[in-house]
Amino acid sequence: MSADHLSLEELQEDIGDCRRCSLWSTRTTLVFGVGNQRATVMFVGEAPGKNEDLKGEPFVGAAGKLLDELLESAELDRSLVYIANILKCRPPGNRDPQQHEIDTCTPFLREQVRLIDPRVIVTLGNFATKFILKTTSPITRVRGTVQQAGKYTVLPIFHPAAALYDNTKRDVLFEDFRRLKELIAPVAPDSAETSEVDSGGRDAPVQGTLFQE
Ligand code: SF4
Repeated sequence: MSADHLSLEELQEDIGDCRRCSLWSTRTTLVFGVGNQRATVMFVGEAPGKNEDLKGEPFVGAAGKLLDELLESAELDRSLVYIANILKCRPPGNRDPQQHEIDTCTPFLREQVRLIDPRVIVTLGNFATKFILKTTSPITRVRGTVQQAGKYTVLPIFHPAAALYDNTKRDVLFEDFRRLKELIAPVAPDSAETSEVDSGGRDAPVQGTLFQE
């Protein structure tokens, strides 16, 4: 892949009918990502599931419906955010991404982040969080904490798919979207001193290295 694309369209053209890892042979559709090219908030998930693979769009189906509800709770809409995944093609049977697939595919994600240049990256679940923050901490320890990866503010949260049949995780997701809403709210000049976000007793910020300059 050539570096320094001038636009997402140019990047998508470069990915083309990608066959850089073996997932091309089992996918139906390559799921590039969707949303606002000038988004303040970028969501990064794991990989396309069955419905995404069929439709070519991230977060459709039940997990997508929950994500829409969560976005609405933060007064956001899909047209205002950008959504992409660590892997652009579905691993067969929704198995976990393998390291060589992550290594091969994530240069595309890096370019998406660079081109969109969001203020906040929300990582959904373990794989996205571990990749973006270069941490070994599981999502249960870092979720809801405000982190930094280079110049980007990162908010790790549970993957919506993990909350579909778990009401406790669902409640936690809505709590974390309240935190997201606070994060992207304009900061009043005299409230800057009180804008620090409580880590809730979970892990202190980890040192992100992925986007360090
Ligand atoms: S997962 Fe990524 S690297 Fe592998 S074939 Fe799909 S787009 Fe290419």
